[in-house]
Amino acid sequence: MNTKNNNSLDLLTQISDDVIHCTNCELCHTRKNAVPGEGSASANVIFVGEAPGKSEDIQGKPFVGRAGKILEAALLNAKISRSQVFITNIVKCRTPRNRRPKQDEISRCNDYLNKQISVINPKIVCILGATAYSALLGGKGITLNRGKLISIDGRDYFLTIHPAATLYRRRLLRVLEEDMMKLSKLIMEQ
Ligand code: SF4
Repeated sequence: MNTKNNNSLDLLTQISDDVIHCTNCELCHTRKNAVPGEGSASANVIFVGEAPGKSEDIQGKPFVGRAGKILEAALLNAKISRSQVFITNIVKCRTPRNRRPKQDEISRCNDYLNKQISVINPKIVCILGATAYSALLGGKGITLNRGKLISIDGRDYFLTIHPAATLYRRRLLRVLEEDMMKLSKLIMEQ
């Protein structure tokens, strides 16, 4: 591993430690474990979801529940290796009954994601679902905009649905698979 990667790894570890001990919002009182995120310090893509769910809260790891299995299968299908990616959420602690994070919680947690993106400096930030789209870019209408690559302030963002959406609408599985194939092509081209 080169010096840049070692430095990035140190910085990511520091961010993770800060998240694990964070008491910046009320979610610190109800979480079992904060979930900083996981993956390569030199990832080509950072996936950003909404917030940890029950399994993630128990294990302290991102996307390890049912939605995580679906994402993993879609990545495998598109030949995107886990070693190429970093996976995290806009809010690092589980919300009670998996409710949507409040604006105040998103704002207080925002700095951690910004730092992770800045340290890893991926080719593409892949936004998973409406909440992350709105929190990161102020966007609306993920269903209409999914599959698109957009550039803002020198950073490329790819939009797709949240894998959990496919649990309730099975036809969306194909949509997620298509988007991951498209993302795979974009990573190779960049
Ligand atoms: S959700 Fe974010 S801001 Fe709130 S306690 Fe967890 S790490 Fe801190």
